[in-house]
Amino acid sequence: MRNLLLSLIILFVAIYPGNRATAQESGSIVTIEVGDFEVSVLSEKLPDVTTDVLIGSKKDIVQKYYPEGAIPFVVNSFLVRTPDKIILIDTGAGQGLLSNLKKSDIEPEQIDIILLTHMHSDHIGGLLQDNETVFPNAALYIPQPEYDYWMNDEAMSLLPEDYQGNFIQAREIIKVYKNKLYLFTPDKLEGKASDLISGFKSYATCGHTHGHAAYLLESNQSSLLIWGDAIPAIDIQVPYPDVTLAFDSDPEQVIQTRTEIFEYVSKNNILIGGMHLGYPHMGKIEKNQNNYVFIPLNINISK
Ligand SMILES: [Zn+2]
Repeated sequence: MRNLLLSLIILFVAIYPGNRATAQESGSIVTIEVGDFEVSVLSEKLPDVTTDVLIGSKKDIVQKYYPEGAIPFVVNSFLVRTPDKIILIDTGAGQGLLSNLKKSDIEPEQIDIILLTHMHSDHIGGLLQDNETVFPNAALYIPQPEYDYWMNDEAMSLLPEDYQGNFIQAREIIKVYKNKLYLFTPDKLEGKASDLISGFKSYATCGHTHGHAAYLLESNQSSLLIWGDAIPAIDIQVPYPDVTLAFDSDPEQVIQTRTEIFEYVSKNNILIGGMHLGYPHMGKIEKNQNNYVFIPLNINISK
């Protein structure tokens, strides 16, 4: 009840910039308006990740940003209520999604569309329970190149058997949702894009995985780019965009993607949200002379 109340209080009062930031109570859900859309960030706390996964950075720089040697780790899903649809972007690791939906007064049956940024386990974990669909009425949107990768037997066979679990999980999901699958080709970030669904554009932002996509929500002159895992370790990867992760599929490509995104959102003053971005899970990227800075969204909790 307390969480519900806090969610209601936070609701609608997040405006960028200007308002004073206020501390969040753990377990609360940040909700903002993006034009006519209401966007809630459903966040799961997972165990910290060791900084050993960071590649391409000097030890003293890693130490500066993560003195404990650990990267705090959350995984977010974005719940979007449009005037006529309820849409979920990613489904987290499967540990907190259902309780977060409940706190948001949403039943799984009410979800119309699920958009995936990519098919790593920490983003698709909420789709199945005991190998059954959790969202019986939802269409599942997967970027075509992402689908192709996880269905590729040769790619799977390159991994030792112990490491094939993500392939098995992705294929199980594809099988269970086969009658509700929608495959699409994301647009280029700087090109002219068409709506994937009304008010949602998809952009190819590859490198973390082969077919990773970001989603741009646009409504009434407001916008939000949900960049998935293009910049998962924000503290170090905004000042040092060339730091990659051990599990990026193509480090060179992910660095290029990241630079393109920073350029695009800073130039167009677009609010961003990320799947591993801690509270308040959203913010803006500003360009200072030679580097970029992340400015967290200011949340004002009205009393
Ligand atoms: Zn992830």
